[in-house]
Amino acid sequence: MPVLRFDRTTRDWVIFAPSRVRRPHEFRKDGAPAVAESGEPPCPFCPGHESLTPPEIFAVRSNGRPNEPGWTVRVIPNKFPALRIEETPQRIEDEPGFQHLGGCGAHEVIIESPDHVALAEQPIDQIESVLRTLKLRFDDLMRDSRFLTIVIFENHGERAGTSLRHPHFQLIATPVVPRLLRTRHAIATDYFDLTGKSLYGEMLELELDAEKRILAANDRFVAFLPYASHVPFETWILPREAQPSFGRTRPESFRPLAELLATVLNKLRVGLDDPDFNLTINSSARGDEDAPYFVWHVAILPRFATPAGFELGSGMSINTVMPEEAAEFLREVEP
Ligand SMILES: [Zn+2]
Repeated sequence: MPVLRFDRTTRDWVIFAPSRVRRPHEFRKDGAPAVAESGEPPCPFCPGHESLTPPEIFAVRSNGRPNEPGWTVRVIPNKFPALRIEETPQRIEDEPGFQHLGGCGAHEVIIESPDHVALAEQPIDQIESVLRTLKLRFDDLMRDSRFLTIVIFENHGERAGTSLRHPHFQLIATPVVPRLLRTRHAIATDYFDLTGKSLYGEMLELELDAEKRILAANDRFVAFLPYASHVPFETWILPREAQPSFGRTRPESFRPLAELLATVLNKLRVGLDDPDFNLTINSSARGDEDAPYFVWHVAILPRFATPAGFELGSGMSINTVMPEEAAEFLREVEP
């Protein structure tokens, strides 16, 4: 049974999910085949292997019945969940001063396509369909009042923590607000109180004026490398219209988002030889969906190095590439 323990020194919650030690590690850097070779376990995310996963929650399909081939995007519960929908978010005191919370939440897998082609190389229609599916799942889980935050992410490559090669997003709904999001929100709220302006909206305007860290843009979204990037080639995609919650994204925004995401991912893929990366969609917590402080955004963090002692000991990053130079380099890359 997963539980969350409260770290009194950082006020962070730590998820304990003992069942995840059974997580399969079928990753192969040299490219695992879509259909398993003899002696290798079959890919559970490929069409025809639906019975190897828990029953689907949702699928985009033009033919076939649920849990049969014919889908183009498929959503399933994670077989080895970090948090479980069956638990209750009840606080229990284990010992004086030490309390835990039931590991209540949701952990879903969004299989991006029937094949092993990375999101960057998918047609725009397919990328748009994946993004729309993420929004659909976000909205559905937010109807459960026990969930306060939903984190959407993709781990691309071994260094980013992939356990299965078949491209997939994951989504974890938590019964608490993570400390990092609380901090970001508090800073943005303070800024609004002091100036009456949105910190993220103003940052976007300043980046557009400065130009040198802008990677690409369209009518609705801007991709740039933040002034204080934490890792080399860190890239953000921010909506021009300040929306705190990914769940408030307008239907007509998914096409331009898919187009810009494809541009950014392909510049990274071609320019940097398919780097490992983590992609996250950062959104406001429950209750702040319409507050004018935070702006939801996509953050892509390439994994050229593993955070080491200094980073872990200080919480500070050492970045070896200036974002201005990284942006200049990537702007020249023709995907
Ligand atoms: Zn597969």
